[in-house]
Amino acid sequence: MTLETSPKVLDGKATAKAMREEVARGCAELQERHGVVPGLTVVLVGEDPASQIYVKNKNKMATKAGMRSHVERLPVTTGEDEIVATIERLNADPAVHGILVQLPLPDSVDERRVIETVDPRKDVDGFHPVNAGRLLIGLPGLVPCTPAGIIELLDFHEIPLKGKHAVVVGRSNIVGKPMAVLLLRRHCTVTVCHSRTADLPGIASQADILIAAVGRMGMVTSEFVRPGAVVIDVGIHRIEDEADCRRFYGDDPDRLRAVRKKGATLVGDVHPLEVRAKAAWLTPVPGGVGPLTIAQLLRNTLDAARRSIER
Ligand code: NDP
Repeated sequence: MTLETSPKVLDGKATAKAMREEVARGCAELQERHGVVPGLTVVLVGEDPASQIYVKNKNKMATKAGMRSHVERLPVTTGEDEIVATIERLNADPAVHGILVQLPLPDSVDERRVIETVDPRKDVDGFHPVNAGRLLIGLPGLVPCTPAGIIELLDFHEIPLKGKHAVVVGRSNIVGKPMAVLLLRRHCTVTVCHSRTADLPGIASQADILIAAVGRMGMVTSEFVRPGAVVIDVGIHRIEDEADCRRFYGDDPDRLRAVRKKGATLVGDVHPLEVRAKAAWLTPVPGGVGPLTIAQLLRNTLDAARRSIER
């Protein structure tokens, strides 16, 4: 089986590049006019390999955009009080405009307490309850990066939102819920689905815009998709097995080569082979939603720096 029908690609790489360029221009202007260099500090507790890679990328992209970027590395044994004290010090530092606590934190640490310690004005992940509340009631604030990046992706490709039925599968605080609010803000009619939703395929297949943020490999199959829908795949999963690769990508030579030579390829929450035959637009994995998250983080940091000079 090969990939026969091709929906249009929602190009996250191109969108993220445009966002980063805009941020770089904003940083240069802020420095020129006000002598302020936006500062981002990532707090990284422990040695989780995936977190190390994310943090390295965030650091690199922030520096490239003209920001001052710093990683506050704490050993895995660091106690909750010490993490909180580190954040309080960063809250008080005027050169730090954005603070990001890399998750997950060690099991012994109360993630909520740590997130709530971050000054909401520096909360560039948009996870603080103050920012979540501001988003809900439509006040300006810092918005979670992945869903805000997805709105940017839709705008970049001039996908109309007003009056459309958007179905968000997933209700997490970092993706599903803020995604639903942002779509509502843009005048979509929004349905949010989750693990207890009855007849999920029946509801999802009513969507003009379908957002899959479930964390389950290839779960969104053909029966979830209305012909001509716009499908956004937030999930990221590694496939290391050739049989799995064939299940999701047929005989796609590039994917098979990646599994054989590099040991893995990626797939999202959407079954690409099935959904490609029905969707009008689809995000690739990788190169869809992934690049937008960091680009939006930089944008949030610039916004926080701009607002700091108004204070
Ligand atoms: P969570 O695990 O926090 O949330 C998953 C959501 O999906 C929950 O609301 C859950 O419902 C729902 N769900 C789980 N199983 C089913 C099911 N069988 N049917 C219907 N709904 C289900 O995940 P996140 O929101 O953090 O992330 C979602 C995906 O996006 C993951 O694959 C993650 O790796 C990826 N991700 C990618 C990012 C990127 O930059 N590309 C950034 C962030 C996340 P319930 O609430 O009922 O349990």
